[in-house]
Amino acid sequence: MLAIDLGGKHALVAGVGDERGLGFGIARALAQAGATVSVATWPPLYKMFKLMLARPTSEPWLTLAGGTKLELAAIHPFDAEFDRLEDVPAELRDHRRYKDLGDFTTSGLAAAVAAQGGVDIVVHSLANAPEVQKPLLETSRAGYLAAVSASAYSHVSLVQHLGPLMRPGGSFLSLSYLAGTRVVPGYGGGMSSAKAALESDARVLAFEAGRRWGHRVNVISAGPYKSRAAEAIGPIDRMIQYTTHAAPLQTPITAEEVGATAAFLSSPLASGITGTVVYVDKGYAAMGLAVDRPVT
Ligand code: NAD
Repeated sequence: MLAIDLGGKHALVAGVGDERGLGFGIARALAQAGATVSVATWPPLYKMFKLMLARPTSEPWLTLAGGTKLELAAIHPFDAEFDRLEDVPAELRDHRRYKDLGDFTTSGLAAAVAAQGGVDIVVHSLANAPEVQKPLLETSRAGYLAAVSASAYSHVSLVQHLGPLMRPGGSFLSLSYLAGTRVVPGYGGGMSSAKAALESDARVLAFEAGRRWGHRVNVISAGPYKSRAAEAIGPIDRMIQYTTHAAPLQTPITAEEVGATAAFLSSPLASGITGTVVYVDKGYAAMGLAVDRPVT
C-alpha cells in the first residue's frame, strides 16, 4: 500500500486561529498522516484559541479518524507582519493582547522552532488586507502594501527564517486563490496582488531554497471555502454557490480535501514536486465559460 507517512516529521502550520479555517484542516491532515504538529496563531486570537481548544465542545474537531486525539506540540503566538521585535510599534507591543506573549515576530517564531529541535514541514495559511472590501481602484497605498506585507512577504520571511532550521528534504507550502491569476470582483484591497506575488515568489523560492537547502516550495490554490477570513471578504456563500454551479465537480471543497493535498505535497511521495501551484477547486480553474444551463 502506498500511504502518506509523515511519522517522525515535525510540521508547523502558521495561521491557525480557530477550527473553521483551512489551516486547522491542514493541521488535522498532517497529524492524521503521523506528523507532530505545532501551530502559530495571530496574537489577537491567541488566548481565545487556546481556551477554545480546552473546551469539551472542541472534542469533535480534535478527534482524528480512528479515534486518536489531535495534540498540538506547541501553539506559538505569531504576527506575520513583523520580522523582529524592534520593528513592532510601541503601542502594539504594549497592547493587552500582545504584551505578555514574548517575541511574536518571525524571528521569535524561528527561535521557538529552533528550541523545539527544528522542523520538516511549514505551511503558511494566513492572509490579511485591511481594505479587502475596496476595489483596487480605491485601495490606498498603505492598504495595498499592508496586504502584500501580511499575505505575501510573510511567506518569503518564513522561508528565510525557517529554511536554515528545516531538515533536508523539507517542504514549504502556502495557500493561494484564483484571484491571483484571474479577475475575481470583490477580492480587493491588494489581496489579488498579494496572491499573485505569493505564487510568483513560490517559484523563485523553490529555486533558491532548493539549491541552497534542498527544500521544496509549493502552493495550493483552493476554491472558495467558508472560513472566518472568507466571511470578512464578503459574499462567500454566493462565491461558493457560483463556483459549485460552474465547476466540473459540483460540490463545495472541504478542509479535508485541502488538508489531504497538503499532506501529500508535504510528504516524501511528492519529492519530485516543487515550484508548483496545485488547484484544489473541483476543477473550476479549468473552465473558460460559466455554465448557465444544464449541460450533458
Ligand atoms: P482563516 O481565517 O482560517 O485563516 C487566516 C488566518 O490568518 C487567521 O487565523 C488569521 O488570524 C491569520 N492572520 C491574519 N493576519 C495575520 C498576521 N498578521 N499574522 C499571523 N496570522 C495572521 O481563513 P482561511 O480562509 O482558512 O485562510 C487560510 C489561507 O487560505 C489564506 O492564505 C487564504 O487567503 C487562503 N485561501 C482561502 C480561501 C477561502 O475561500 N477561504 C480560498 C483560497 C485560499
